[in-house]
Amino acid sequence: MVVFGGTHGDETMGMEVVKVLLGVFGIHDVWGSATQESELIQGDLYLGIGNPEAVKRGTRSVSGVRDLNRCFHEAFFESPEALALPDQQRAAELKDLLARADYFFDLHSVSTKQTVPFVGVTTFSAAHREICRYIPVRYIVDVNSILGQDVGIPRKMVEQTPTTCSWVNRHGGVGLCYEMGYQNDIASVPYALCVVVHLLEHVGVVDERFHQIFSFSSDQNFIVSEQQVYRLVHCERNKFKNFHYADSRYTTSFLPVKTGELIGTYQDKEEVRAYADGLLVFPSGPQTLRDNKSLFYLATLVV
Ligand SMILES: [Zn+2]
Repeated sequence: MVVFGGTHGDETMGMEVVKVLLGVFGIHDVWGSATQESELIQGDLYLGIGNPEAVKRGTRSVSGVRDLNRCFHEAFFESPEALALPDQQRAAELKDLLARADYFFDLHSVSTKQTVPFVGVTTFSAAHREICRYIPVRYIVDVNSILGQDVGIPRKMVEQTPTTCSWVNRHGGVGLCYEMGYQNDIASVPYALCVVVHLLEHVGVVDERFHQIFSFSSDQNFIVSEQQVYRLVHCERNKFKNFHYADSRYTTSFLPVKTGELIGTYQDKEEVRAYADGLLVFPSGPQTLRDNKSLFYLATLVV
């Protein structure tokens, strides 16, 4: 069982959760490595920081080229050019551990307040479904191969989504990405911690003794009945010509949109419309719009 915070260095919530969990075992130096025997653990539990160098810098990645959650593609591990990037070197350090994991939870948070917590998956097996029931989110987003397109992975290569979780899934484990909410919302950390402790207990790596160490103020029943699975079907990439959203609400993630709805317009009047009913997800706000990166994604309902 592996749990990471800080796969993206600017997302503090997951880091805080990992720090608290390590503290239970008397490990307070999150930057080093330590091994601790504990009768609280069944099997092996790895808790750590995905990309420590990015965390120290407070940036999504070290290189600014490709973040750790876009490095897990076989082609990158074989490319000297890719391996020159510090983030790719970190991925190379982690890939064997993640390939061995039965379960992997990657704890993320989101850079915009205009979002809701959700779970990202790259496949949605019965095992994924069972675990997701313990995570209090309404939306599960199958990011599948569409996500790789935001780093310009050629279409013929995108069958390998380059995320940490996809790597785990491709090696027989169950990996999921828990997007816990707005990244600077420290008040949400105890809630996220409670969710993660439930998850650890559910997969059996700890039992209720571990749970009891934390005196969660409200020990909610986290089983969620009304979850919806959406699948990314389209990545709209910014085409170098000054895009403007038709309305500021289109910078809100998980906004329902209808087929044909005008999302925005380029300076040369080219219109960008939703081509299916679904949700507009992961929109880049005005400050984060970059040429040839994703403007937004469209997701359609699976179940
Ligand atoms: Zn992230």
